[in-house]
Amino acid sequence: MKNTDLLKIAEDFGSPVYVYDSQKIISQYNRLKNAFKEVKKLRINYAVKALSNINILKLLNQNGSCLDTVSIQEIKLGLQAGVAPEDIIFTPNGVSMEELEEAVKIGVQINIDNLSVLEKFGTVHPNVPVCIRINPHVMAGGNANISVGHIDSKFGISIHQLPHLLRIVENTNINVNGIHMHTGSDILDIEVFLHASQILFDVAENFKDLEFLDFGSGFKVPYHENDIETNIEELGKKLSKKFNAFCKEYGKELTLAFEPGKYIVSESGYFLVKVNSIKQTTSTVFAHVDSGFNHLIRPMFYGAQHEIINISHTKKHKRFYTVVGYICETDTFANNKRIAEITEGDILAFKNAGAYCFSMASNYNSRYRPAEILWHNNQAQLIREREIFEDLIKNQVEISL
Ligand SMILES: *Cc1c(COP(=O)(O)O)cnc(C)c1O
Repeated sequence: MKNTDLLKIAEDFGSPVYVYDSQKIISQYNRLKNAFKEVKKLRINYAVKALSNINILKLLNQNGSCLDTVSIQEIKLGLQAGVAPEDIIFTPNGVSMEELEEAVKIGVQINIDNLSVLEKFGTVHPNVPVCIRINPHVMAGGNANISVGHIDSKFGISIHQLPHLLRIVENTNINVNGIHMHTGSDILDIEVFLHASQILFDVAENFKDLEFLDFGSGFKVPYHENDIETNIEELGKKLSKKFNAFCKEYGKELTLAFEPGKYIVSESGYFLVKVNSIKQTTSTVFAHVDSGFNHLIRPMFYGAQHEIINISHTKKHKRFYTVVGYICETDTFANNKRIAEITEGDILAFKNAGAYCFSMASNYNSRYRPAEILWHNNQAQLIREREIFEDLIKNQVEISL
């Protein structure tokens, strides 16, 4: 997408607004698929929680992607987008039996990550195939909030509990058709990932009726200049080789599955905001924009660095700005970053705003959630309306006081 296209969208639809480039989503999807072309059966389950607009789900599904969901509501969004139940995997954590029952009724693939739930579920549904989420205890990245494979993580069944797991499977006669792991976001070192995958292969040998192995996600995309990214082609080559060797030994062509969220949609997204004012303090020049962590929380929540460009004046001399929001809370998007000289009223674009941006937005400070636009076939199409005051009060019940 060109900056002029983005600027036109901000003019036509107002700010703040999220924009997604469909072409980038598809090219990322295809790049991942291509990296694993040596594997006969590949299944990509796009992680809905990254960006859950039904048009995005539909677009990906039309291109061959399946879905990874973490709540019954995400399953329903998938169905709404026209995705078949058998193309949806449900990988919840800590949900009620009622929610699992509802998912069984819909007919999606169930993934279980707790021994007590497995035992209960297996007793009631010995014939419903389940996938088991293993925790290989491998630290994927440096950030403890987004590494879900370590020893104290709430996710997955520890590999150290394998004997217990096998006893439950034998006792309930449950049908295990898949083994899964998701070590967390940000694979910085391919060897670490391959090490975790070896643990998954070792576990998988214990199950005789498998159909797939799911390696989760954690593919890292670059967020700023000189940022590291997962070398997907190298990972594809190395893991495919190991996977094909495993299938041969296992005696069956299994499906290799992944559940990427960030990798597919992060770089497709732009978040456009308007600069309300410039404020010069003793040591800092602040650019105040018409947003805050109510719309994009990643910088404050994970310390994420989103590149910010001034699309109104790309050519101007760069100066240092601290970009902050308009809510009553410290909401620093970027600290002393070089941005082309800003004039009040300019439109700034946050890059990498496709994953975990709109989907984590809230109404804090009683602000409206932004509109969403899909840039598709060189055309801007509204895929979610900006909220209005009625949205803020529609569930509030006014009682007589
Ligand atoms: C969030 C999540 C993903 C997606 O992770 P990304 O880092 O966005 O690729 C995949 N699988 C599970 C189980 C998840 O919870």
